[in-house]
Amino acid sequence: MNNKINIAIDGPASSGKSTTAKLLANKLSYRYLDTGATYRAATYLWILNDKIDISEFQKVFEKSNIEIKFDGLKQLTFLNGIDVSLEIRNQEVTANVSFISSLGFVRTSLVNLQREFAKSKSVIVDGRDIGTVVLPDAELKIYLVASIEERAKRRHLEYQKMGQQIDFDTLKNEIANRDKLDSEREISPLRKAEDAVEIDTTGLTIGDQVNRIYKLALKKINEHN
Ligand code: C5P
Repeated sequence: MNNKINIAIDGPASSGKSTTAKLLANKLSYRYLDTGATYRAATYLWILNDKIDISEFQKVFEKSNIEIKFDGLKQLTFLNGIDVSLEIRNQEVTANVSFISSLGFVRTSLVNLQREFAKSKSVIVDGRDIGTVVLPDAELKIYLVASIEERAKRRHLEYQKMGQQIDFDTLKNEIANRDKLDSEREISPLRKAEDAVEIDTTGLTIGDQVNRIYKLALKKINEHN
């Protein structure tokens, strides 16, 4: 069976995109790319360079190399040959990523990298502009939403599991702020593609969420045979 389709999953911060995409990739034996990691790597590079002026940063960025590699299904993010998968998740990166991801030269370069990954098909790509800009021809587009309370709760729980205590309201503000910056930026803002299926995951279990998309994916795969 030729089951080669591409699936784009977009949505605001902490709407469950990565968890859903990972489980779905397992079920379909597809590859999965978290594009947020690429913007996080660019942000980490800026922080390592003491948040230099953006015109200076452009020169540094153009000489640097961001790569995505896989250890089985696990995505690893490399910056200039060094695995920075853990570092890109830190609070300072999260607080600055919406600024760095709004820069045109950063987006142009990283969108190329993301499209390269999707060339072989059978991929699930998650982000903010996948259905609208990166893969406008993706056969299945999903737009995940959830209430801000629910998203902050999920994130809070994740931190608790990692043994980190982060104030709930601080988290909620950080998520709201990132959504605002991501949806108001000029280039490729966070937006639902016209042909995307919107799923509100507030009150859904991860299992429900994955099954809904899995069914939509099987339908699309059948249509392409
Ligand atoms: O998905 P994650 O929350 O890790 O993404 C981090 C940030 O990267 C987002 O808040 C956004 O600023 C940026 N991003 C983006 N376009 C994407 C994916 C992420 O601008 N396709």
